Amino acid sequence: MASTKSLSSALLCPKCGRSEEVVEFLDAFCVDCYPYKIETPLKIDFEQCKRCERIFLQGKWMPYNESKIKKYILTKCDGEYSHAEYNFEKKAMNFTITKGREAKLIERPIPLDLRPTICPECSRMSGGYYEGIIQLRGNARKIEKLSELLIEKLSKRTFIAKSEEKEEGLDIYVGKSRAVVEVMVMLKEKTFITKKLIGRSQGKRLYRTTFLLRL
Ligand SMILES: [Zn+2]
Ligand SMILES: [Zn+2]
Repeated sequence: MASTKSLSSALLCPKCGRSEEVVEFLDAFCVDCYPYKIETPLKIDFEQCKRCERIFLQGKWMPYNESKIKKYILTKCDGEYSHAEYNFEKKAMNFTITKGREAKLIERPIPLDLRPTICPECSRMSGGYYEGIIQLRGNARKIEKLSELLIEKLSKRTFIAKSEEKEEGLDIYVGKSRAVVEVMVMLKEKTFITKKLIGRSQGKRLYRTTFLLRL
């Protein structure tokens, strides 16, 4: 018999009405209408500091980092997919679903909203507030080398209010003392620490800490 498939014997998608002759099918639906079990958030929003561009993610301020944001968005998705990757340009999650004969790529929009704000550190910085002063003294070449490293490491944790060249060395004014302690421990630098009470805020004592390094 030379008859070809007639429309009546072809599957029709119950959602869009297209026939299996024009579109690929998965079970009873066409690939476009197949009810994939994927759950995505309606949108994702973060606060982003408009000064330092850091974002508030999972309870803390951190440098803007696309791979961390991707991972975070992924934790908000659920379903039967074998792989998922967020596309920042399209603001959509691309899910790879292996069902039927081959892997399918499904795109689901997840708007990403970065709400501009000013992080607590930048607001302190604009108020001229800083907690720590690093005083580098001694060999000028060593001071230059270490100060570059310190500023690089510290900028990831806090802000550098200013740095001042002095006759005897260099002073670096830093937002958070704790960040200085962390970086000094990391770099195994020994410092001579002095603390000075500079006031109180909301019942807490505020100190300014000086970290002296002889190089
Ligand atoms: Zn359909
Ligand atoms: Zn900021």
